[in-house]
Amino acid sequence: MSKVRLLPESLANKIAAGEVVERPASVVKELIENSLDAKAQNLKVIVRAGGKGLIQVLDDGEGLNPDDALLAFERHATSKIIKAEDLTEITTLGFRGEALPSIAGVSRLIMETRTQDQPIGTSVEIAGTRILGVKEIARPQGTSVLVRDLFFNVPARKKFLRADNTELSHIVNVLTQYALAYPENSISLTSSGRELFNFQSVVQLKERLFQVFGSDLLKQLVELEAEVPLFSNQTQAKERFDQERIYLHAFVSSPDVHKLNRNSLYFFVNRRMVRDKMLIHALLEAYRRILPSGVFPVALLFIEMPYSEVDVNVHPSKTEVRFRRQSLIHDFLQESIRKALMNARFQTPFSVQPEKLKVNPRAPQPSQKTSNNLKNSLPELPLSPHSLKATLLGNRLSFQSPDSSISSPLCATSGLISREEQTREGEDIKISNCRDIQPLGQIEESFIVASDKGSLLIIDQHVAHERILFEKILSERQQGKIETQGLLLPLIVELTLQQQIILENISTELNSCGFEVEPFGHRTLAIKSVPADLTAADLKKLLGELLDGLEKETQQVSLERIKEKIAASIACHAAIKVNTHLEYSKMIWLIDELLKTKYPTTCPHGRPIILRYKKMEILKAFKRI
Ligand code: ADP
Ligand code: MG
Repeated sequence: MSKVRLLPESLANKIAAGEVVERPASVVKELIENSLDAKAQNLKVIVRAGGKGLIQVLDDGEGLNPDDALLAFERHATSKIIKAEDLTEITTLGFRGEALPSIAGVSRLIMETRTQDQPIGTSVEIAGTRILGVKEIARPQGTSVLVRDLFFNVPARKKFLRADNTELSHIVNVLTQYALAYPENSISLTSSGRELFNFQSVVQLKERLFQVFGSDLLKQLVELEAEVPLFSNQTQAKERFDQERIYLHAFVSSPDVHKLNRNSLYFFVNRRMVRDKMLIHALLEAYRRILPSGVFPVALLFIEMPYSEVDVNVHPSKTEVRFRRQSLIHDFLQESIRKALMNARFQTPFSVQPEKLKVNPRAPQPSQKTSNNLKNSLPELPLSPHSLKATLLGNRLSFQSPDSSISSPLCATSGLISREEQTREGEDIKISNCRDIQPLGQIEESFIVASDKGSLLIIDQHVAHERILFEKILSERQQGKIETQGLLLPLIVELTLQQQIILENISTELNSCGFEVEPFGHRTLAIKSVPADLTAADLKKLLGELLDGLEKETQQVSLERIKEKIAASIACHAAIKVNTHLEYSKMIWLIDELLKTKYPTTCPHGRPIILRYKKMEILKAFKRI
C-alpha cells in the first residue's frame, strides 16, 4: 500500500501559513506591504488585544476589481511578477503571492476593495480558506482587510502568542520600520480605541525620525550621505547607467549613546527592512574602539542599490537578503560611517577593549591580524580577565575567613621564580589578605594601577564602583530599604511608543525601586522622585537604557531580573566616572569594598573589572625566564 499522499488543500495552507504568519505583527507586516505596493498614500491600522482579537489595515491604494479580489486569495496568485526573470529584479515588497491565502487560512477575514474605474466595490469574506460570501458594496477607492480570530483553527500556534502588550509592541515595531522607510506615507495605529500614533506624510527622512523618536534622540544622531560606484573599472562604469551605484543615507549615534542590545539598529535595503549579519558587522566595525565592547549604538541605515544587486527571495518573510557584492558593501558602509563619526569630532571615550587584550601566544586568534598598538608593544602579555576570576574569588574567600592561611607560591618567592612555581603556573594564585593589594596610582585618572604580591593589577575604577553599588542596592532592596529622593521640579521625559508600552509593564517595579513616575501628556512622562544616589542629569539616560534593555524580554523575564536591571542601571550611573582623580585613601576604600562583593571580577554588565599581569608573565616578558 502506498504511504505517500497529497495533503488536503486546507492542511497544506495551514503549513504554508506557518512560515508567513508567525504572530499578529506578521499579519500587519504583510498587509502594510500590500498597501504600499498598491501605491497607497494613507495607511491606517486598527488592532484589538495586541492584534489577537482584530487587525484591520485600511488604505487608499489602487484597489482590486471583483475578479482579482477573489483570485488574490489563491495560493501563488500575484500581480507583481510574471516570469522567472522577474525574480532577479524585484521592485515590490511582495511577490510570492502567499500572504493573503496564508492569512485567510488561519483567521476569519473580510476584504473590501474598489478600484478607481469600478463604480462599485467588492467584499469577500473568508474563514480558514472557505469563501463565506462575495458581495457588491459601496466604498471609496482602496482596500480594507479585516482579520479576526487569528489562529482560531491552529490552537498550537495560538498557544505560543504572548500577552497583548507584547504582541502590540511587535506591531508597533513593524509599523515603526515601515514608517521610517516610507516618510511620504501617512501611517497611524489605533489600539483598542486609543490612537497610539498618527504620522503625517513628510518630505524628509529626518522629519519622520523626529515624528517616530522625538527630538532627544535626533540630537544625538549624525546624518550622513555617501555613495560608491558598483564598478571600479572606469570603462565598465561608463558603459553602465548612472544609477549603478550604492547609495547610503544614514543616521548614527554619537559615542556616548550606549544601548545594551541591538534593538536600535535598523537596516533598510531599497526600503525593505532587513536583518543581515554582514550589515551589522560593517556598522559595529565602524564603531570599533569608539564604543566599549558589549554596548551598541543607535543606527538607521538606508541603503539603495540596483534591484538586481540584491536577492530578496531567500525566506518567506522576506527580511533576509543576499547581496551580490558583499565585501564592497561592507567596506563602503564601514568607511563612510567611520569617516562621519570622525568628522563629527566626538571625544573618543577612554576605554580598553578586553577582547583586544586577550593575547594568548599559545593560541593565536585569526582575528588578531589587525594591528593593535598595545599588542605590539607588549607582545607576550596574556592579560586574560578569565584568569582573574579564580584569583579574586580566592581573594574573597580568604577575606571572609582571614584566619585560613592560604599560601601563595608567589608570596614565598624572593627574586626570581622557583621551579615549583613554574610547575604550578596554571593554578590559581591565592592571597591571604586584601590589604596585600597596594594601589600605586592611576592611569588617565581612570584605572587604578596596583601591585599584589608581585602581580600587577589594573582596576577599572568605574566598573569596580559599579559592582559595589550594584550589590549594595540589591541587598538593600532585599531588606526592603529603599531610599528615595524627591525632585524639586519633575523631570519630563519623551518616550517612543515601544518604550511607553514597556513602561506600563514595569511601572509597579519602578515604583518599588524608588521611582515616582506619572504619565504627562502625549508620549511624555513626569518623573517626580528617583532612587537616592542618582543625579537628575543621569536620569533620562538611565530610563532610556532601562526600557531598551527590557524591550525584548518584558513579558518573559522574572521580576528578579527586572530588579537586577534597575540596580545595574542605577549603579552604572551613580558610579565614579573615568577621568576622575582618586585620593590614595579612596583607592584603598574602593579595593576593600570591591573585595567584599560577591563577584569582584565582572561588572553587572559582564565587563571585566580587574586585569592581572602575573609575576611569572612579567618575568617572561623581560626574558628573565
Ligand atoms: P503578493 O503581495 O506577494 O503579490 P499577496 O497574497 O500579499 O501576494 O497579495 C496577492 C495580490 O493581491 C497582490 O499581488 C495584489 O495584486 C493584490 N492585493 C493585495 N492586497 C492589496 C491591496 N491592499 N491593494 C491592492 N491590491 C492588493
Ligand atoms: Mg503581499
